Amino acid sequence: MRPIHHVTPLLRSTPLTRRHGAEVWLKLESAQPSGSFKLRGMGRACQAAVASGASGLVSSSGGNAGYAVAYAGRQLGVPVTVVVPRRTATRTRELIASEGAEVIVEGEVWDEAHAHALQIASDRGGAVIHPFDQPEVWEGHASLIEEVAAQLPPPGAVVVSVGGGGLMCGVLRGMHAVGWGQVPLLAVETHGAASYAAALRAGHPVTLPTIDSLALTLGAKRVCDRAVAWAKQHPVEPWQCDDAAAVRSCGRFLDDHRVLVEPSCGAALASVYDHAPPLQDRSVLLVVCGGASVTRAQLEGWERGTRSSSEPPAP
Ligand SMILES: *Cc1c(COP(=O)(O)O)cnc(C)c1O
Repeated sequence: MRPIHHVTPLLRSTPLTRRHGAEVWLKLESAQPSGSFKLRGMGRACQAAVASGASGLVSSSGGNAGYAVAYAGRQLGVPVTVVVPRRTATRTRELIASEGAEVIVEGEVWDEAHAHALQIASDRGGAVIHPFDQPEVWEGHASLIEEVAAQLPPPGAVVVSVGGGGLMCGVLRGMHAVGWGQVPLLAVETHGAASYAAALRAGHPVTLPTIDSLALTLGAKRVCDRAVAWAKQHPVEPWQCDDAAAVRSCGRFLDDHRVLVEPSCGAALASVYDHAPPLQDRSVLLVVCGGASVTRAQLEGWERGTRSSSEPPAP
């Protein structure tokens, strides 16, 4: 079966390499038709569901996963329903609807939307595509590392953003498949959405009481079990930045590479722009996870709102 996602560009970044002092390679998942890496895993999971007879697809994500399922469903010719919580922005709902999906607004937060999605699937007979906790999703995400490994020797470190942990599970699966089992992974979150760091401290997934971050797509209150289990099999280093750093990195990246990404992706970029200590003297593969829920005007507003926070010291 031909995958639904696209092969994305791998770029050696001159501006980030100069700032970092060692090679920085960018895997530009922002170039996927749905604007983020999510299409890899969602596309794979949607294909598997349709192959085993699903007549419809249901997603509970009010963001990039829902958009990716909508895109995949249209490619596969099956109807898609996306249940989004009330806080999902109008623009994001419109993006999902623009792919022909039915958008249902239910609940305040993702958990409530997800419960409704399960109900709809059992009423109508569709397959629920989980945004991060499903083996087919990890298999799909793993393909991004397989593409890179065909072009690059193992880097000194790999950087990913972590929300529910689906991306990191896929990336680690891919790294082990291509013989990069010794390459450390930097798992980046914002301070207000650090459910993975909390899980590593506890030794098991914990549910955060609240999420307080502009990086909405990192805002899973609880990571999947597999993401925590991986840290026992692989060198995983958690790292966090604040919202101001994530937003500032989005602005710098827009100037450096003319690509607009969400703060969820800006957090990963901040590890290079703000010199995260675990990356020192290492060449880096940075997964530019992307994100479709951002506009120029929104970024400018966030930049004004977070600028009061102090700049980190110059290198
Ligand atoms: C979903 C998403 C993430 C987090 O991915 P998880 O698989 O939930 O860890 C990060 N950045 C963007 C842009 C996303 O859409």
